[in-house]
Amino acid sequence: MTKRVAIIGAGMAGLAAARLLREAGAACTVFDKSRGLGGRMATRRTGDFSFDHGAQYFTARGPRFRALVDGWRAAGHAAPWYDEAIVGAPGMTAPARAMAAGLETVMGFEVKRLSRDARGWSLHAGEGSYEGFATVIVATPAPQTTPLIESGGLSFPELASARYAPCLALMLAFDGAVAFQGESLRREDGPIAWIARNSSKPGRAEGPKTFVVHAAPDWSRTHLDETPEAILQKLAPVALELIGAQSAPIFATAHRWRYALVEQALSAPCLWDPKVGVGACGDYCLGPRVEAAFDSGEAMARAVLDTWGEHGPA
Ligand SMILES: Cc1cc2nc3c(=O)[nH]c(=O)nc-3n(C[C@H](O)[C@H](O)[C@H](O)COP(=O)(O)OP(=O)(O)OC[C@H]3O[C@@H](n4cnc5c(N)ncnc54)[C@H](O)[C@@H]3O)c2cc1C
Repeated sequence: MTKRVAIIGAGMAGLAAARLLREAGAACTVFDKSRGLGGRMATRRTGDFSFDHGAQYFTARGPRFRALVDGWRAAGHAAPWYDEAIVGAPGMTAPARAMAAGLETVMGFEVKRLSRDARGWSLHAGEGSYEGFATVIVATPAPQTTPLIESGGLSFPELASARYAPCLALMLAFDGAVAFQGESLRREDGPIAWIARNSSKPGRAEGPKTFVVHAAPDWSRTHLDETPEAILQKLAPVALELIGAQSAPIFATAHRWRYALVEQALSAPCLWDPKVGVGACGDYCLGPRVEAAFDSGEAMARAVLDTWGEHGPA
């Protein structure tokens, strides 16, 4: 009988695990609380503007991720930006959409609790449940993984050692002149760590110049729980000066990433309890990069397949 697998989290790690398990014949369903795929590989569209306000780009160094990225590039889902930086096209969510093609996805479903009975694992949200899974993979940031794992009566103590830096992000659009003409700007001190000229990325619509600004980790920590208006008021003048904007932005908003970049990763590519068929994966296992999330997701799928191999085919 085909094994049914529930994957919680439609970011790079969850989709990488789902893709490999489906190739091996498992019936995978991917659940996510958001409406859109990709997790922190995110694109915000507002009228004429689009902003990659989470992951800015990715690199592909390992052979498996490189092969996948080459396929995206050939199909137009990704394109080189500058140096070795590659971006999704027309936005950072495009690779996730390509990976999810043909997978069963349930969006807008925030899993609150796991339970297990004779038919297998069930996933419960505020309203509604999905039942009868042989395996559950939790592919959410570590602090969101812990309560889900514990709700199922399980524990992965390693999760407690993962650490993330938060990131406060601004999205700005200008129709007037802007002095800064490069693709990106990195700063080692001050409240801003990174500015990208989003509209310089390949495949973006013509129109106003758009910028994504990432506050430095310390500044983000200090101001994390302030309102978007307060963050904008404090950070925008610094950003405007750095990019040499000669007029006020025609669009400006702020976004809070509570768990943005992994500062301390685990020393394991994934976590897996073969006795009960529950595992966890994500960038926090291997490092603060899209490729690390992919590697963790694939390691997760291989751990599941190894266990199934010992107990007969899927
Ligand atoms: C501001 C910022 C800048 C970054 N810049 C870069 C960069 O330039 N290059 C790079 O390589 N990486 C960058 N990263 C890191 C990169 O985005 C991540 O490492 C990677 O995308 C993580 O993938 P993931 O699948 O582990 O987690 P995520 O992408 O976070 O996916 C987890 C998913 O789980 C879902 N979820 C959470 N809880 C639940 C629940 N209870 N029920 C259902 N769904 C749930 C979430 O909605 C999310 O979609 C950046 C990240 C941020 C935020």
